Amino acid sequence: MSNATVTVVGAGIVGVCTTLWLTRAGFKVTLIDAGPVGEGASFGNAGNISPGAVVPYLIPGIWRDAPGWLMNPEGPLAVRPGYFLKALPYLTRAVKSATQEAALKTSRAMHALHSGTLEAYETLTRGTHAAALIEVSGQLYVSEKPATAQGSALSQRMREQAGVKAVALDWMEVRELEPTLAPIFKSGLLLPNNGRCKNPHHLVKALADIAERDGATIARGKVSGFEARDRHVQSIIVDGRPQPLERVVIAAGAASRELCAKLGSPLPLEAERGYHITIEDPGVAPRMPVTHVDAKFACSPMNVGLRLAGTIEYGGIDAAPNWQRAELLKAQAARMFPGVKLDKVTRWFGNRPSLPDGLPVLDQAPKFDNAFFAFGNSHFGMSAGSVMGKLAAELVAGVKPSIDIAPFRAARFGGSS
Ligand SMILES: Cc1cc2nc3c(=O)[nH]c(=O)nc-3n(C[C@H](O)[C@H](O)[C@H](O)COP(=O)(O)OP(=O)(O)OC[C@H]3O[C@@H](n4cnc5c(N)ncnc54)[C@H](O)[C@@H]3O)c2cc1C
Repeated sequence: MSNATVTVVGAGIVGVCTTLWLTRAGFKVTLIDAGPVGEGASFGNAGNISPGAVVPYLIPGIWRDAPGWLMNPEGPLAVRPGYFLKALPYLTRAVKSATQEAALKTSRAMHALHSGTLEAYETLTRGTHAAALIEVSGQLYVSEKPATAQGSALSQRMREQAGVKAVALDWMEVRELEPTLAPIFKSGLLLPNNGRCKNPHHLVKALADIAERDGATIARGKVSGFEARDRHVQSIIVDGRPQPLERVVIAAGAASRELCAKLGSPLPLEAERGYHITIEDPGVAPRMPVTHVDAKFACSPMNVGLRLAGTIEYGGIDAAPNWQRAELLKAQAARMFPGVKLDKVTRWFGNRPSLPDGLPVLDQAPKFDNAFFAFGNSHFGMSAGSVMGKLAAELVAGVKPSIDIAPFRAARFGGSS
């Protein structure tokens, strides 16, 4: 058992899980966030917990569809006017990741990172009220085109190689499985071993409460930089004031880019913005999360109603939300679920922390011995959070990580942004 102190920056799912694993390993942990716990991207995601997430977003063929999506104002992908040139280096790198060879490599790394997520959450929540927030529900993917929900031959190969159980469904089987859906879907794919979180925000808060009960300190403050000497970070600047530290983990989601740059590691981290609507008392209740694969959003039953969440928008981390994108989800809800009641709808947007090869950064800071990076899980942060936290805690403790972290090293971007 170690009694060294660790400062974790960012109380999203990754920072909170890191804090809990570290606390259980005997570290004295302070978790700092500029805002309330769990109100970044981890607040309003679709809650899909997917040990079977082995198909990267960036697969060959995506760039055939992307121009059409961009041209359609109601499409699943948007780049804000004025941001295109800023996004271009990221998008160029992302295009390069969408080759078969790169996608297969990414898929293997995703499998290593995601496959143990449910067990890791189970370990963190056992015997607490948080355990009931996660269940193995299965997940359904549906398409309005025949034989499309299961994805390309490459996607199927990735699932097969990882041993992910997946059942292809025709339109009738989709209807039988999820009778709440409108009869517009021609194909489906059931991933029976995937799960869901009934409320991501409640889960992050519950995990933070457990960490606090186990001895962690949760503090409010905005981190703006560091003081360092040679390879050692000596203090962290919180709300303008330096505070001494022994070790630090950067888990600040999409805002990690700025903090890592201050630690001499410029990384091509981008805010991949997404939106949700949550419908209270919708009058329809799908049994499991349903993802519309053509329109790229998920419909998830939550303990606060039915949530539709997804789509991608590049516009920079500080841009105001374009609520029109959330409104589009309302129209989708009416189309997908006949009879859905849309009287009480809340909307939200959040910044997914994304890197152009579709994998997170999980590493010791290249220029410092006592700083560590854990962020960049993009579309899969709820699925990866429990394991990211475990691996980050292993790095801090200086023990061999439970999986090979070579694909997640910061140096893969060559030190340039
Ligand atoms: C619409 C949408 C749907 C999604 N659906 C799913 C899904 O179904 N399944 C899935 O696995 N993933 C999903 N995701 C992705 C997932 O939500 C993210 O990958 C995950 O929440 C990222 O967690 P995080 O802890 O890295 O970052 P965050 O949750 O963003 O947390 C970062 C924290 O750092 C704090 N912070 C930032 N800067 C500072 C600073 N300078 N000082 C102090 N604190 C700071 C922030 O306040 C924030 O609380 C979805 C995302 C979106 C947007």
